[in-house]
Amino acid sequence: MDVRTRYAPSPTGVPHVGNIRTALFDWLLARHFGGQFIVRLEDTDRARFIPESVDGIAESLRWLGLDWDEGLDRGGPYGPYTQSERLPMYRAAADRLLGQGDAYECWCSSERLDAMRAEQARLKQPPRYDRRCREDAGRAEARREATAEGRGCVVRFRTPLEGRVSLDDAIHGPLTFDLSTIDDFILLKSDGFPVYALAYIVDDDAMRISHVLRGDEWIPSVPRHLLVYRALDVAVPVIAHLPRILGPDGAKLSKRHGATSVFEYRDQGYLPDAMFNFLGLVGWSLDDKTEIISREQFVASFTLDRVVRNPAMFNIDKLTWMNGVYVRDMPEPELVETFAAWLDRGLPPSVPRPVDRGLVARIAPLIRERVKLLTEVVDYSDFFFLDALEYPADDLPGKAFASKAAEAAAALRRAVEVLAALPGWTDDAIEAALRLQAADDGMKAGDLFSLVRVAVTGRRVTPPLFESMEILGRERCLVRIEAATGKLG
Ligand code: GLU
Repeated sequence: MDVRTRYAPSPTGVPHVGNIRTALFDWLLARHFGGQFIVRLEDTDRARFIPESVDGIAESLRWLGLDWDEGLDRGGPYGPYTQSERLPMYRAAADRLLGQGDAYECWCSSERLDAMRAEQARLKQPPRYDRRCREDAGRAEARREATAEGRGCVVRFRTPLEGRVSLDDAIHGPLTFDLSTIDDFILLKSDGFPVYALAYIVDDDAMRISHVLRGDEWIPSVPRHLLVYRALDVAVPVIAHLPRILGPDGAKLSKRHGATSVFEYRDQGYLPDAMFNFLGLVGWSLDDKTEIISREQFVASFTLDRVVRNPAMFNIDKLTWMNGVYVRDMPEPELVETFAAWLDRGLPPSVPRPVDRGLVARIAPLIRERVKLLTEVVDYSDFFFLDALEYPADDLPGKAFASKAAEAAAALRRAVEVLAALPGWTDDAIEAALRLQAADDGMKAGDLFSLVRVAVTGRRVTPPLFESMEILGRERCLVRIEAATGKLG
């Protein structure tokens, strides 16, 4: 079978990680079977449509490296791939259902429907249409009213009053639904726009989609979809309802758990490879234990039978850990370029751009083990790029020299002498010299190092001090230590 999957986002905001997980699984399934991955815009909800979000959809897919074969800006043989450009096809399908008697025009006013719903709520009944227009007499009456008021009609499905329908879900197995509880649902709205059930089925059929992957919040709609497939005589594709994504407290992943948009993760310094790996394991597993999985391995192994049924946890700590692994494993040139790009973005404007790649190449080995998020690159290495350091004078003495400013200043003055006299400027020589100074002056080496660390970097937590000093160069270190001495008064 030709495997054709589709990601069908609604352009209503920034891409949620849950949607992107669906896109990823669609992409993996298509790539695993050598099929096609299609991106279709489901923009029929005009009230929620946000035009800029279309670019966001493409951008998020590109960021994760999910290339598509048809749709969006690529077109393809089954276009258009934007639902608002396919209205005549939905109209034709609705007309066909009307002609067959599987659908009817409903002319009821929204006021009438609202009143009906309010009454049902009062009686604690489930909301549903009372089927007034299902019969000719009721429909004729409603139509007269509507025509007098200049209103149009919707098209509703004529749901059988009893019986059952079943889906063999690729993840959940057989799901059976009793039709007696299913409303006469709307297919086409009065503005000519279809609802999801009509539009996606018409499109999936026209676009030869073989597998439908979507979140399990869609399961309650399945009986309606099955009725439409049957009435349109469309073969039901493989349908897989993916496990919902939960935050650490077991509630559905939402804003209050932290970032939900992929762009927030990107901007926080997560790597696309780490996000790919992480999301690939939200609801799927290779063998219940392997955590670090390459793209190639994912593509080679991804099938639906290893998708889990139970809700999947979005564990941000795991993502952060994974990101650190990917940072450490990056090939050197790529690492340098990635770090440099974050420095270009994050350093103060006074630092000339682009930042010195040669310098970044020397710093990268010192910090790669420590960086978990790329935003940290700036914190760990800004002092290499800045001219003057700004830090509170209180940071200098630290615990060891608290209220001993004069002693701290004397130690720094000595350090300047010692370092100025060094024949060579290597990390080992710097360390040895400062150790010797500490021993001579009867202070703990660690205390002296902390003092020098803040003086030359402006920070308490830094990459290895002596290597950093070697890279900074003697001149700059001495100037900074002297400046620090001045700060101590
Ligand atoms: N447009 C729907 C959504 O964004 C798509 C659901 C589906 O994948 O079929 O939720």
